[in-house]
Amino acid sequence: MALNRNIYDTSLFGAPGRIVEPDNPFQAMMDRFDVAAGILGLDDGTYRYLCTPAHVHITSVPVQMDDGRLEVFEGVRVIHNTTSGPSKGGIRYAPDVTLDEVKALAAWMTWKCAVVDVPFGGAKGGIRCDVAAMSLGEVERMTRRYTANLIDVFGPDRDIPAPDMNTNAQTMAWILDTYSMHARKTEYAVVTGKPVGLGGSVGRREATGRGVMTCALRAMKRRDMTPEGSTVAVQGFGNVGSVAAELLAQKGCTVVAVSDREGGIYNPGGIDLADLLRYAAENGNLITGYPHADAVTNAELLTLDVDVLVPAAKEEQITIRNASQIKARIVVEGANGPTTTTADAILHDNGTLVIPDILANAGGVTVSYFEWVQNRMGYFWTPEMVDERLDRIMTDAFDRVMAVADARDITPRIAAYVLAIEKVNLSLKLRGIYA
Ligand code: NAD
Repeated sequence: MALNRNIYDTSLFGAPGRIVEPDNPFQAMMDRFDVAAGILGLDDGTYRYLCTPAHVHITSVPVQMDDGRLEVFEGVRVIHNTTSGPSKGGIRYAPDVTLDEVKALAAWMTWKCAVVDVPFGGAKGGIRCDVAAMSLGEVERMTRRYTANLIDVFGPDRDIPAPDMNTNAQTMAWILDTYSMHARKTEYAVVTGKPVGLGGSVGRREATGRGVMTCALRAMKRRDMTPEGSTVAVQGFGNVGSVAAELLAQKGCTVVAVSDREGGIYNPGGIDLADLLRYAAENGNLITGYPHADAVTNAELLTLDVDVLVPAAKEEQITIRNASQIKARIVVEGANGPTTTTADAILHDNGTLVIPDILANAGGVTVSYFEWVQNRMGYFWTPEMVDERLDRIMTDAFDRVMAVADARDITPRIAAYVLAIEKVNLSLKLRGIYA
């Protein structure tokens, strides 16, 4: 069995010396992939095929800024694997986005689609930029130029973007419009996570948080816990975190802490989320300073004495430094890659049940698939149809992962990788290698 270090030390896809930093997201993905590949006994060639990105597109994105300056942003789109279908994955805008991060996120999309049995491969994109410091017009011009640069990469049967951190339904609308202008026809199915008024699916905005909620309830049941008796802390109060918090509260949980990039708030008696959302809307979408709770840092939030912890912000939040202090009995990973490999082992030893990202946050890609199907049919489903089908898929996927974990006596994370790799490998064997 080849070790990932041997492959990626000499990889073409990145600057030497940057690829194998401990705990970088791509390394974290590969560490889990290695374990699962070992369990499945993958041969060397298949191992290399399944972990090597199929395409890496790096593109410069020139933008005329409002003050007349020409700014050049770095953009990337990584297609990890298309064995199971067209590639699918979000686009992230962040000042610190790295190639390794996008490569990891693209691979996670491949495994995630396989876990929920959605016929897509995996991809991810990113632009290094600080949208908080840009005008809406600048963000729009950057998005349209990035789309134009990747016009031959994207396509409803090729590669289908979606929102991720700091991108949203409006971003998807600009991509749809730019792509459609080039195609000389309106192509709804080229992106998902669009506004509902522009071919989007009802329930897509809530889908990831809803899937997190389904997994959290299922995990509580496994641990003989009830929503009514359970406290929850959520790191990240964006699309995923805020919806997960609201839905868990609706199911009877007491949400005692939430945070955003500026810090967190904590009220052991529970936070009134509707009131908090009103406060955030009036305060630049930030929750800090909310008067009916105490201030906590993001680091403190993670180690609060709660029953369920939902990291829903970004990668590498639970690490070797804080894993032993995590008190939650259940961690449900709304974010991609919030737990490092070393932290995984510590949580496992402490008996914490970790519902892994490639299962827990797969609700988003599941409803993205529904949206793509609806666009291709030209027929739109009701909210009830979307929610009912999503709940069924998430529950089935949860049970499948846990069955593998129990049968093989492995963690749910490794079980999810085993399931996913096995599925993609089956498609690969059926398709064969084109030569
Ligand atoms: P978002 O931009 O809507 O929200 C992100 C939230 O995290 C914001 O509240 C932000 O303030 C906060 N945040 C950012 N940096 C932080 C930090 N260092 N500490 C604490 N909080 C911080 O993004 P989102 O769409 O909710 O995505 C969150 C995570 O979920 C990401 O890892 C993303 O890849 C993953 N995810 C999103 C979807 C989706 O459908 N949106 C699907 C699957 C996975």
